[in-house]
Amino acid sequence: MLFGNDIHKVDTYSFEVGPIRPPSEGGSYSLLIRATRNCPWNRCRFCYGTPYNRQKFQLRTVDEIKRDIDAAKALADQIRAASWRLGSAGNVNSLVGGAILQSYPWLSGDHSFSLVFNWLHAGAKTAFLQDANSLIMPTGDLLQVLRYLKETFPTLERITSYARAKTLAKKTQDELSELRRAGLTRLHVGLETGDDEVLKYVEKGVTAAEHIQAGRKAKEAGLELSEYVMPGLGGKAMWEQHARGTARVLSETGPDFVRLRPFIPRPGTPMYDDYKKGDFELTSPHERLRELRILIQDLNMTGRVCFDHMMNSWYRDRARREHLFKQDYEGYSFPEDK
Ligand code: SF4
Repeated sequence: MLFGNDIHKVDTYSFEVGPIRPPSEGGSYSLLIRATRNCPWNRCRFCYGTPYNRQKFQLRTVDEIKRDIDAAKALADQIRAASWRLGSAGNVNSLVGGAILQSYPWLSGDHSFSLVFNWLHAGAKTAFLQDANSLIMPTGDLLQVLRYLKETFPTLERITSYARAKTLAKKTQDELSELRRAGLTRLHVGLETGDDEVLKYVEKGVTAAEHIQAGRKAKEAGLELSEYVMPGLGGKAMWEQHARGTARVLSETGPDFVRLRPFIPRPGTPMYDDYKKGDFELTSPHERLRELRILIQDLNMTGRVCFDHMMNSWYRDRARREHLFKQDYEGYSFPEDK
C-alpha cells in the first residue's frame, strides 16, 4: 500500500482551487491556495469577471483557508511517504508519480493531487494566493494565512497574489511592510493601460496616478511588482496615448516585471459588443507593433519586459511558429535589452 487507507477521504485530502493564476505561476508549478473567491470588481469592460464566470465575490474565513492548507500538507505528507516506500528517499519524481497512479488511477483526475504532486516535483518553493484580489482581505486575516502557510511549508521561498491597484493604494505602508515580513513576496497587478481616458473607457476603476501610488507603495514595502499591460486596448482611436501613458506610468512606478497580454475582444464582455457594433476598432498586428515601439522607446525602467503568454502572437515566421519575441517568464532585461 503506497498510501494510507483514508486517501479517499475528501475532507482530509481535497482542497478548493480557483480557475486562474498567472502563467508564470503555472510555469513554476506554484501551490494554489484560494484565499478569496472570484473578483470583487467584475466591471472592467474587456473582462467583466469572465475568468470567474461573473460569480459573486466571496471572502473566505481564515479557518476555511487553513483547512485547505492542512489538506495540501496531508497530501504532500502522503506523497513523500509513498516515495520512501518506493525507495526514492522522499524525493518526488516521475517514477514515484507513475507508481502512485498505477496503484490509484482515479488520482489522475484529482486536481488537489495533481497540484501538490507537481508542486513537490518542482521543489515546493512557490505559492500563489487566489483569486483576483487577495489584498481585499482584512490585513489581519491575510497575515494569519501567510504565517500559517509559511509555518506549514517552510520550503516556500516565494508567495504571490493578484492585487487590484485601488485596493493596494488603500493599504497603509505599515500594512504592506507587515505583509512582506509575513511572507508575501510579489504582487501581480493589472495596469492594462496608463492612459486615463482609456482607463475610464474600460472602467478599470482606477486612475493612472493611483496606479503609480499603488505600485510605489508595494515597492517601498519590499514587494516585487509584476504589472500587466494590454497592447491594443486603446483601439485605433486611442492607440498612441495608450502607449505613451502606459510607458509613463511604468517608468514612474518601476515594476520588476512588465507582462504583455494583447487585447482580444471576448464574447460576453461590453467591449466585445462595442467591437461588434463597430464602436471599437481593433488595431492590426502591425499597428500593435508600432504601438509597442512607442511603449518600449518611452519606457525608462530597470526590470524585465515579458511576452509570456500565447496571446503575444507576433510571428517572425508564422509557418514555423517562430515568435518575434521570446515567450519565457523572465523576458528581456531593461535597460540592457531595450
Ligand atoms: S479586476 Fe481583473 S478580474 Fe476583475 S474585472 Fe477587472 S480584469 Fe477582470
